[in-house]
Amino acid sequence: MGLDDKNRILFINEQALVITGLANLQVIGRKAEELALKNDLLRTLLKNMLSGNAKGENLKIYSNDKESHFEQLIVPINILPTGEAEKRHIGTFMILRNITAYKELDAAKTNFIATVSHEFKTPIASMKMSLQLLENEKTGALNDEQLSLVESLREDTERLLRTTGELLNITQVETGKAQFQLANLDIAPIIQKAIESNDKIAGRKDIRLIVPKLTHLPQISADAEKAEWIISNLISNAVRYSYENSEVKIHTALTPAYVEIAVQDDGIGIPEEHHGKVFEKYFRVPGNEKDGTGLGLSISKEFIEAMGGYIKLQSDIGRGSIFTVGFRRNHG
Ligand code: ADP
Repeated sequence: MGLDDKNRILFINEQALVITGLANLQVIGRKAEELALKNDLLRTLLKNMLSGNAKGENLKIYSNDKESHFEQLIVPINILPTGEAEKRHIGTFMILRNITAYKELDAAKTNFIATVSHEFKTPIASMKMSLQLLENEKTGALNDEQLSLVESLREDTERLLRTTGELLNITQVETGKAQFQLANLDIAPIIQKAIESNDKIAGRKDIRLIVPKLTHLPQISADAEKAEWIISNLISNAVRYSYENSEVKIHTALTPAYVEIAVQDDGIGIPEEHHGKVFEKYFRVPGNEKDGTGLGLSISKEFIEAMGGYIKLQSDIGRGSIFTVGFRRNHG
């Protein structure tokens, strides 16, 4: 669709007429705003155009009894008239690109990952339990070599379990199936559990987990399991991206509306240009990859934002990182 500088429609193709439901109207030469009064889709398209939101949310459009997904592209046309110094806006070109096929492929991929990770989780968890039993002397004595084999098998299954858990979480977030049971909770036991689940890997690298006294903290409004997942993930990252024989410190702070938990490490740090990107799916700072999926922080961000909180990062390369999560306080 092409509009002039007064947003009058100069031209529009067949397909656009069908999608917008303007097919039976005489539209050429009419102002788009005027047509938008009786046309929801055109109103949305114009709103995006006027707000300069050229690549906002994708649009879900029903036409011909079918749901399709479109991406809106807006190309402002500016010219520099001969002899003048300033550019003049003479119109806008608006394009809708049908991305339904891509969306369907994406959904198929998500479903596939969801099914596979779901099917993998139970057998891996049972392998982990069997290995724990094997390590127990009551099951029978193992010699040192056998014991070290069992231990490394257990570490591998733990890693597999974490990866499949992350894949399952991200697919639930993507399909909107992640469920949050908000309740009023004490944060102290949640932090404690998150620390316990990272105790061993920290010990193996001689990393000390330092926690302040966790008394007198107000309650938070959160889903207990998700809150623990987020904090545990931050501690696990801090440990994995830290040097041996160092410290990971946990701090708490209060703001009028939030309880903040910060996880600080003296590890390799994250260069400024990647600060926004580390919260994106599958992103890993180039050159720093440890075993992992690049999903942990994006899941943490989705989880905390769904609970009304936030996550932020301060870091300098070589100076370690501080990840802070803000949980909403329970105000009764
Ligand atoms: P991963 O499974 O790769 O750890 P995350 O989503 O948890 O995925 O983190 C994304 C990337 O951010 C990591 O690959 C790493 O490059 C960087 N990162 C995360 N936490 C830290 C940290 N505490 N110190 C340094 N880099 C980190």
